[in-house]
Amino acid sequence: MIYKFLSDLPKKDYPVVIFGSGPAGISLALKLEKKKINSLILEAGEENYSEKSQESYLSNVIGDDITDLRYSRLRQLGGTSGHWGGWCKPIENWNLKNWTVNVDKINSYSKEASEILNIDLKFNKTKINNHFNQIQFQYSNVRFAEKFKDHIHNSKYIDLCLNSQISHFIGEKQLIKEAKVISKKKVFFIKSKFFILACGGVENSRILLWTKEKNDNLINPILPIGKYWMTHPWFLGGVGFLKKTKMENMLNEDFLKYEGPIHFATSQKLIEEKKILSGAIYMNADEDNKFHKEIIKSFLCVSPEYGKKIARMLFNKDLKCGNIFLNLEEAPNENNKIVLDKRLKDENQIPISNIHYKKSKKTLYSAKIILENLATLFIQKKLGRVAVKENISDLNYYENLGVHHHMGGTRIGDDKNNSVVDNNLKVHDANNLYIAGSSVFTTSGYANPTYTIVKLSLKLGDEISDIINKKL
Ligand SMILES: Cc1cc2nc3c(=O)[nH]c(=O)nc-3n(C[C@H](O)[C@H](O)[C@H](O)COP(=O)(O)OP(=O)(O)OC[C@H]3O[C@@H](n4cnc5c(N)ncnc54)[C@H](O)[C@@H]3O)c2cc1C
Repeated sequence: MIYKFLSDLPKKDYPVVIFGSGPAGISLALKLEKKKINSLILEAGEENYSEKSQESYLSNVIGDDITDLRYSRLRQLGGTSGHWGGWCKPIENWNLKNWTVNVDKINSYSKEASEILNIDLKFNKTKINNHFNQIQFQYSNVRFAEKFKDHIHNSKYIDLCLNSQISHFIGEKQLIKEAKVISKKKVFFIKSKFFILACGGVENSRILLWTKEKNDNLINPILPIGKYWMTHPWFLGGVGFLKKTKMENMLNEDFLKYEGPIHFATSQKLIEEKKILSGAIYMNADEDNKFHKEIIKSFLCVSPEYGKKIARMLFNKDLKCGNIFLNLEEAPNENNKIVLDKRLKDENQIPISNIHYKKSKKTLYSAKIILENLATLFIQKKLGRVAVKENISDLNYYENLGVHHHMGGTRIGDDKNNSVVDNNLKVHDANNLYIAGSSVFTTSGYANPTYTIVKLSLKLGDEISDIINKKL
């Protein structure tokens, strides 16, 4: 059932309370439902977009500019999936090697996650050379509110209440007893056996930090809450062209045919050899005819014969030609962190979050090496040409085109000095508090996060149901 305010909720015991109704929260509730376990989702936002709700996402950025956090995430039913791009890809197993997790276990949820996201379980990868693979994304059309609203409304096991913002948890001796929740200006104290924070890649840290401030001895003070925050730097790396037929002939039946841009990714060998961060490359995100003409014009000036050849290939639609975008892994850095503002509070008197964020030199260096190696590959195999943007080649700067993926802050690990949750997503030294969402990512890899978020939530659902069933 879906309720508008907490005052509408009938008195009922929920063994699991989930905060946040984005992909992380809803996927978890769906898993618990399959196990016939009741859960309550408390969602701070309304059913639809509202400017007023978005205002609570105000966040100051100290350091390098990032996309306004009031608008890059959505505080409403279904969370940020209301305007996400839908690109899905698993994190490479070798990217997960720094996480203290069982990679096979996470991957065992791939099929179930694909069904939630309405995508094919098909992420092919073709080796181009030792340094690059052609990779395949899947595109999800799922808006979680749209897809699951009626289902939740009719569910015997899931209740959801809108307009209910968690302020913080209350408890002692490693046990959360209740959560302070504010709904329509009224304060409620919600009790449960298991509490799960699924409020997104910034709010999870914000709520934990506030919980720490409001309680003595509940949260272990050494946990680096809010630290190692990461995004995926997404920027223009250069321009170039690629002869599609040539590449297709080279890769034979392994060439991955799909509409839209061609995607490459760095191999494990390249990142290890060059000590760089991994990345995905999107060639020709948009067919831009004006841009093609510009490139041909330039080629005709310096090399008329070559220019004519390119023009012919373009005419035959054999050429992928245009901008080259990069989506890079970002190195986890303790100093990139979420902290609470000392003065500014939202309408429910909860301190807003500030993000300290600096782009890293390693990102720039990795971009340069990746593009240079791609250029070499194109020349060696006569596939085309790549021109690296000057600001990247000179290691000067890159311009982030959107900071939309929010990872880290409550990362997974064994060591309490540099992690907040354990492999089961339980906050270290808190017996019944768990975190769902990309804030638990130890490293970011280059893949978009949501597919992995869904898999982790499904795994968490099994984990919790196992504990509940054992206790019964
Ligand atoms: C423009 C854009 C494009 C994107 N494109 C892609 C893409 O192509 N592929 C991809 O994988 N990812 C993409 N993402 C990222 C993707 O949207 C997120 O990874 C995903 O939505 C995270 O899910 P979540 O449930 O953890 O958080 P969210 O979706 O942010 O959901 C968090 C929920 O918690 C609620 N909440 C917040 N605070 C509280 C509180 N105090 N109390 C109760 N509830 C609260 C919010 O209202 C929200 O409903 C994109 C993001 C943006 C902004």
